Amino acid sequence: MFYRAIILFCLIAGTISTNIKLARIVIVGAGASGIAAASKLLENGFEDVLILEAENRIGGRVNTVKFHDYWVDLGAQWVHGEKGNVVYKMVADLNLTDHSDPYEDNIYTSTGELIDTRITKNITDTYVEDMDRVEEITRIECNRSIGECFENKLRQSFSLFPELNETMQDQLLWLFEMMQTSYDPADSWYDISAREYFEYSLCEGDQVINWKERGYSTILDILMKKYPNPEEELPVLNKTILNTEVTKVDYSSEDNTVKISTLDGKEYVADHVIMTPSLGVLKTQYETLFNPPLPENKVRNIKGLGYGNACKIFIAFNDTWFNPRGDKNGGYRIIWTKEEREKLDSNPKTRWMAYSVGFFYVEHKPRLLYIWVSGKGARLMDDVTDEEVYDQVTEMLYNMMSNMFNVTRPLAVIRSKWHQNKHFRGTYSYRSMETVATNSSASQLAEPIVKNEKPVVLFGGEATNEHHFSTVHGAIGSGWREADRLIRLYLKTDDTNGDLMTK
Ligand SMILES: Cc1cc2nc3c(=O)[nH]c(=O)nc-3n(C[C@H](O)[C@H](O)[C@H](O)COP(=O)(O)OP(=O)(O)OC[C@H]3O[C@@H](n4cnc5c(N)ncnc54)[C@H](O)[C@@H]3O)c2cc1C
Repeated sequence: MFYRAIILFCLIAGTISTNIKLARIVIVGAGASGIAAASKLLENGFEDVLILEAENRIGGRVNTVKFHDYWVDLGAQWVHGEKGNVVYKMVADLNLTDHSDPYEDNIYTSTGELIDTRITKNITDTYVEDMDRVEEITRIECNRSIGECFENKLRQSFSLFPELNETMQDQLLWLFEMMQTSYDPADSWYDISAREYFEYSLCEGDQVINWKERGYSTILDILMKKYPNPEEELPVLNKTILNTEVTKVDYSSEDNTVKISTLDGKEYVADHVIMTPSLGVLKTQYETLFNPPLPENKVRNIKGLGYGNACKIFIAFNDTWFNPRGDKNGGYRIIWTKEEREKLDSNPKTRWMAYSVGFFYVEHKPRLLYIWVSGKGARLMDDVTDEEVYDQVTEMLYNMMSNMFNVTRPLAVIRSKWHQNKHFRGTYSYRSMETVATNSSASQLAEPIVKNEKPVVLFGGEATNEHHFSTVHGAIGSGWREADRLIRLYLKTDDTNGDLMTK
């Protein structure tokens, strides 16, 4: 009896491994989600796995580049939180990351006048406290947009300071809107849904854990098991074809296979396709990318979920004149007057500038400053050349810092271009007013297209993560989720002697 059980087990195990080995899986996109999905599939015995990546590199919105002796992140930069964060779990014991220091970032006018810190500290603290209890506020006190909620709250704080005139109040409101749209990359904070705001689950702990001298792309090596022990590396890179843009995912075939066509005229046939391009790519290409067209429900979610923009500008200097105390963390926030904003807005070349939140230090990279350009401003930068950005940033620095420091010209400036790149079309997803109006959700976006009980087109990527969207840990979680879906399918199908056993 015992031996018969063993033989049966061996037979089942043999079949499982054969079927898993034969299953053809194409992953579209080698971002964090695609790399996570491929790694998990390969670890679980799948062999016929192929990643098709449109760019000439892996990583997607994780993009660490060398800039004046430093590695800088043009995309994801910080690990947001510890508890329940899959990235933090992988790196906590590897001594690769560093916790953030508390810091002061005072608020200045664009000409370098420090705004009374007693007032700005009080108002900033109120805003941060309101953010901490955002669920309570949005549930009980308002259920429309985050803009309406916070404007109301901030105006209550303003009333404590009679010296804050209308102009100053308007400037502060603009600053807080820019700060808010750097988390939720909408064009305006009146487009960020308050009702859905708490759908994002904050992982408790430090929200801005940095990668010391390295960058966030280290996580890709960890996912592929190249780090810490290169001998354990999974063959993900061997199974990735770069510079290969997928132009059609055809799931019309009667035999349940999917045909994938690429811009260079090649075709691939798969049993399952895992789509991981950004929501921005899906929004602009869902009509041409799929045959037959995606079901109405899927299209509703693609249109309904919010997806927006942000831009980072890194500035390299010869020395650290802007940080005389040698702080690890800190910076200079800017408030723009309405007149300045209108003037900047009247010129297509300068209108992005009022969306910049300030100049900030970069941890472990002391000769750098960075500027965060929020929401719409990042999109407006598409019209501006790199040389123009260099000149404008230099001018902003001189205007703002000359009365405090001996400003030196930057050695160089580098900026991200997520919106203009057709393989991204923006930065990350958020919950917009349209999300509520259309009853859209990440979990609906994540539902696979099933034919004959077999998921043929699966959807990964940060925007499909119900509670950790807009992050790297969310992207990785979504890739693992779709890999698990296939692992479960093959184990189950093999067990029940189903269709896939015959392949
Ligand atoms: C400026 C910025 C700052 C950020 N900061 C943080 C942060 O500090 N912390 C954090 O956790 N997250 C941050 N994020 C978010 C994080 O980077 C993303 O959520 C995450 O990297 C998304 O990974 P993904 O695999 O879902 O998508 P992507 O990284 O977009 O990967 C999808 C891949 O698909 C490819 N692709 C697209 N279309 C095609 C096609 N037709 N054919 C083939 N390939 C295609 C793309 O080139 C890309 O490589 C930031 C993002 C940006 C842009």
